[in-house]
Amino acid sequence: MPSPAITSFTELALSAPVQKAIAAVGYEQPSPIQAASIPHILNGDDLLGVAQTGTGKTAAFALPLLSNIDLSKKTPQVLVLAPTRELAIQVAEAFQTYASKMKGFHVLPIYGGQDMSGQLRQLSRGVHVVVGTPGRVMDHIRRKSLNLDGLTSLVLDEGDEMLRMGFIDDVEWILEHTPTTRQVALFSATMPKPIRKVADRYLKNPKEVSIVSDTSTAPNIEQHFLIVNGFDRKLDAITRILEAQDFDAMIIFVRTKTATAELAEKLEARGYSASPLNGDMNQTLRERTINRLKKKQLDIIVATDVAARGIDVERVSHVLNFDIPYDSEAYVHRIGRTGRAGRDGQAILFVAPRERRLLQSIEKATRQSIKEMAMPSGSEVSGKRIQQFKLQLTEVLENQNLDFMYNILSEYSSESDRSAEEIASALAYLLQKERPLQVEDAPQRSRQRDRNERDKPEGQQRERPGRRQDSKSGSREKISDVPMARYRLEVGRNDEVKPGDIVGAIANEADIDSQHIGHIKLHDDHSTVDLPAGMPDDLLKHLKKVKIRNRAINISVDGKAESRPRPTITRQKDRSDKPKTAKSSADKAKRRKKES
Ligand code: AMP
Repeated sequence: MPSPAITSFTELALSAPVQKAIAAVGYEQPSPIQAASIPHILNGDDLLGVAQTGTGKTAAFALPLLSNIDLSKKTPQVLVLAPTRELAIQVAEAFQTYASKMKGFHVLPIYGGQDMSGQLRQLSRGVHVVVGTPGRVMDHIRRKSLNLDGLTSLVLDEGDEMLRMGFIDDVEWILEHTPTTRQVALFSATMPKPIRKVADRYLKNPKEVSIVSDTSTAPNIEQHFLIVNGFDRKLDAITRILEAQDFDAMIIFVRTKTATAELAEKLEARGYSASPLNGDMNQTLRERTINRLKKKQLDIIVATDVAARGIDVERVSHVLNFDIPYDSEAYVHRIGRTGRAGRDGQAILFVAPRERRLLQSIEKATRQSIKEMAMPSGSEVSGKRIQQFKLQLTEVLENQNLDFMYNILSEYSSESDRSAEEIASALAYLLQKERPLQVEDAPQRSRQRDRNERDKPEGQQRERPGRRQDSKSGSREKISDVPMARYRLEVGRNDEVKPGDIVGAIANEADIDSQHIGHIKLHDDHSTVDLPAGMPDDLLKHLKKVKIRNRAINISVDGKAESRPRPTITRQKDRSDKPKTAKSSADKAKRRKKES
């Protein structure tokens, strides 16, 4: 797919402020989907992109569209449609980051559940880019608060998700309400028929780009993945892996130059000899770093793909993909840095829940399944530390003259009437205070941490936290394994409601993962839907007012609710958090089930 010739952003005709922003955020080279899409989008062509989350698709459309923005115009020039409010917010944040050097640039996320008056105020002030969920965008078009006369580009992000959530009619309606001259870019992880139909109908001579590659990996490399989300949790996971597994040397792959330095520094602070390796370093410095790894003066290199190309160091026992690679080719190249000269190698891949699809496509392309591993437990790490501690004791007892210490301690023993074991325990306690021998299990993923992470600018933000988890099967009914209850909605077939409308409304308004939305049954005048049990009262109150096909759904617990246990759900004060409690309780319930 990508024109292999493009290996640097400077080769792309992006505007100067956008180039500056890319440099500031630390991206070293365009990802394959970016190299392939950017020239077409810059050129004003329609585009059909098959790309999953994690491939860099947001920048693939945001960078060229920003390059073409006319800052002097006040009506929206770019509209991005996204299936969920979280994605809408994240895409808007990405635009903001990439437009950091464009003075006076405004992007506005609009989604259901958010105060309408604020959106109206901002829209009337003038914005260059609008990123919204279909329902709310339709509302604004109907109210005439969103003027699309000057629209030059429309992006449909995660097309297959929009289809799955029942937004496809809305998307078509919106397409019909935009100038026919606008450019359309449609991105989708898969290309189901209805999406293909939309593309055939609304895209003019689209350029098609997709990431499909077929590559194989060496059999002497054992491959594992770990589901872990967020920089801090990943750092914690690495530290545990480094302690629990016997490793000689390790190469850790991250996406940005900034991350190479930051992570190497964090590992140094935890007592490992680690160095960054990135494209900002000149050839001599890079070679010196690799030589230090060879000579055992260094154990860990934190590298970007560009900088690590061709590294051949036999003692590299582990490759750790801190950030998932953009495609299977990059994956194969990365893990090939271990298992050199016929040795065995370990490859570990960190996957955020939302990147599961990318994991599957890597498995498919390499025709190999990657086994899931668990985060090393507290007791595993403890065991290793205790073992090391005992070795140190033996070493000192065997090799040091301890007479002086012995005298002090026997004196103290008789003065205090304490046994030698008691005193030794106190000393051991003092010794291990900085690095305790007793290690607790890693804490569960916290939403607060996720939010903090989300507040970081893109580029420093390693994940898009709090996103709905992708599922392997893709079917709602099969996936839900949390306690469910049946709810009744006062809209039905007579209102022309479709199951997708219900999924879309509930996923967006209650922020419940679509995979946690269970069986939906349509009747003439009402419908029922299975949702995680224990919906908080005020969330229920909020949902009652939500409209589908212009009718309030007036949701209530159905008389025939299932009698499974209800997890306790408490709601927080902050409005923006409210709907999320249902989701996090669902997640907790799921985790509890798994643990038991
Ligand atoms: P996306 O596929 O749009 O969800 O992007 C996934 C992640 O890749 C985001 O956190 C981006 O900041 C990051 N990213 C996108 N393009 C690049 C690039 N060229 N170099 C490094 N990181 C990138």
